[in-house]
Amino acid sequence: MKLKNLEMMLQRLAGFPHPRPSLEQYQTPAPLAARLLFHAFMKGDIEGKVVCDLGSGTGLLAIGASILGAAQVEGVEIDEKAVAVAEENARLFDVDVEFLVADVSGTDPMDLAERIGLCDTVIMNPPFGAQKVHADRPFIDLALRIAPVTYGIFNAGSIPFVRAYTSERAEISEKVSGSFPIKRTFAFHTRDIQDIKVEILRLTQKQPKSPAA
Ligand code: SAH
Repeated sequence: MKLKNLEMMLQRLAGFPHPRPSLEQYQTPAPLAARLLFHAFMKGDIEGKVVCDLGSGTGLLAIGASILGAAQVEGVEIDEKAVAVAEENARLFDVDVEFLVADVSGTDPMDLAERIGLCDTVIMNPPFGAQKVHADRPFIDLALRIAPVTYGIFNAGSIPFVRAYTSERAEISEKVSGSFPIKRTFAFHTRDIQDIKVEILRLTQKQPKSPAA
């Protein structure tokens, strides 16, 4: 599978029917999603692995991981309407992805971590915290609880925050820069397309737990 082919496949997936600003529902543009997935694949973090997508939305990253040969993929998403779209998207590509409706920032993170179980790799495009300050923190916390390796999409310039926030638990083992063209989606958007600079960070847990352990 070539990067371009993956990108073209992901382009065909249905998006959010009624995106909710409070949940920062922006589907990752296919080129950026394909870049993250391909990068993780080349690092050996996808094929044959147990992969979890936190804030899976319409399933783009989860389905892409499955297409690239992940052994098992689970998506976790708060919005059941988005999960219904994701399930339809998974059927379209005939891939086996489980979606769990759950709140990553809920009151019992240990319980959620147990429900999800350990995995090898987390992939995520968490809310950047534009609507709800620090909305990305529970995603980082959960990711580091369940997987030794995490790929996340963050606003460009997030490295100092991510490094400080995770310093005891993880290190940033890689950074890939990209851009996230956001189409006018919500009333507060003033331009037709706004290009947000982002970075894909690979976080490696300092004391990894693996499903085999
Ligand atoms: N992973 C998808 C969607 C990214 S948008 C993609 O790459 O296209 C962020 C997603 O996180 C949205 O689907 C939103 O509904 C979900 N989300 C926001 N807050 C959440 C929470 N507390 N728990 C679980 N999912 C959440």
